[in-house]
Amino acid sequence: MNLELSEEQTAVRQLARDFVDREIAPNVITWDRAEEVDRGIVKKLGEVGFLGLTVDEEYGGSGGDHLAYCLVTEELGRGDSSVRGIVSVSLGLVAKTIAAWGSEEQKRRWLPGLTSGECVGCFGLTEPGTGSDAGNLATRAVREGDDYVINGTKMFITNGTWADVVLLFARSTDAPGHKGVSAFLVPASAPGLTRRTIHGKLGLRGQATAELLLQDVRVPASAMLGAEGKGFSVAMSALAKGRMSVAAGCVGIAQAALDVAVRYAGEREQFGRSIARHQLVQELLSDIAVDVDAARLLTWRVADLIDRGLPFATEASKAKLFASEAAVRAANNALQVFGGYGYIDEYPVGKLLRDARVMTLYEGTSQIQKLLIGRALTGVPAF
Ligand code: FAD
Repeated sequence: MNLELSEEQTAVRQLARDFVDREIAPNVITWDRAEEVDRGIVKKLGEVGFLGLTVDEEYGGSGGDHLAYCLVTEELGRGDSSVRGIVSVSLGLVAKTIAAWGSEEQKRRWLPGLTSGECVGCFGLTEPGTGSDAGNLATRAVREGDDYVINGTKMFITNGTWADVVLLFARSTDAPGHKGVSAFLVPASAPGLTRRTIHGKLGLRGQATAELLLQDVRVPASAMLGAEGKGFSVAMSALAKGRMSVAAGCVGIAQAALDVAVRYAGEREQFGRSIARHQLVQELLSDIAVDVDAARLLTWRVADLIDRGLPFATEASKAKLFASEAAVRAANNALQVFGGYGYIDEYPVGKLLRDARVMTLYEGTSQIQKLLIGRALTGVPAF
């Protein structure tokens, strides 16, 4: 792939850097302590075009390619992973999936709002009893005349409390396993849908993560996204691209860890000289730098494959697996550079580590990524 960024890509990255420095960086500690990002950020993300990247302008999108999307996601991840997650889910998992699978009516109904930040989307796959084994989900959608009536519970749903639309996965036929699963676009205002904010998260504290309870939620049959029984394919195609977005966010975390650790190492003195002059501190810094570059290159390769219309799912698993583990390592190494100051939240590295930790868990744990890569290598599913 060509590793030179185009003028347009360089400009969009600069736009994202300026946005992060102006709108996000000054608020990061406050939002983390308050366990709530200011919701006004969604509208601002929409105005600057970050919620419409790669979506056709016809539906309110701002166009651009997947590398541009990665560059913006990386910058947002550098600023605040809670904000990065809002975009990765509302645009990456919901709007882009509607753009790929939706009917004309569904695209016209939902995409302009999602891409402008007028409304927020969430992705309802995980349930209390099914996480990694998502194809065995229990939420049921029963056909009644022209409607489906949905009952079930969704767990750990990013943007859940804020969302206007839920991309929801439910079992709509008696076909076994994932073959019985269909996808639905459920307005969050639908009678019978209630949500409970999940507090006390280790990281991503600013993010509105929720449990969704669905009791006799009625939607018209036209709310189904994709064909009946194809819901798991819809979910997996969304997550394959989503993993690239998580990986890009992890690059941002690792880059932030590198930036703050290098700066601090130059300022802090011990044993009569700057700690940057101690070889073991340089080892910590160089380990972070290698992780940043390797994670970034793996992630950009996925974007390049998508933009060229080539298969990318296994490469997305590799990028997500490596970048998420690298982000945890990088933030942990940066914390070591900060010594005791890294352990209190007036300094940024503790939050980077807390935010990085979930990246090895969601959109497929590291173990699940290894099984996906293993299946691609051997042809044998070992889940
Ligand atoms: P489990 O599946 O119970 O796994 C527990 C452990 O067992 C893990 O280590 C796992 O790797 C391991 N394991 C499981 N099966 C195997 C196997 N076959 N072989 C080897 N090891 C295995 N979900 C959504 O649908 N939408 C969201 O927006 C969303 N946002 C989230 C936000 C946060 C902050 C968090 C924490 C989670 C979010 N999730 C979301 C859920 C997330 O995707 C799941 O937590 C994840 O898929 C793991 O599922 P689980 O927690 O049930 O763990």
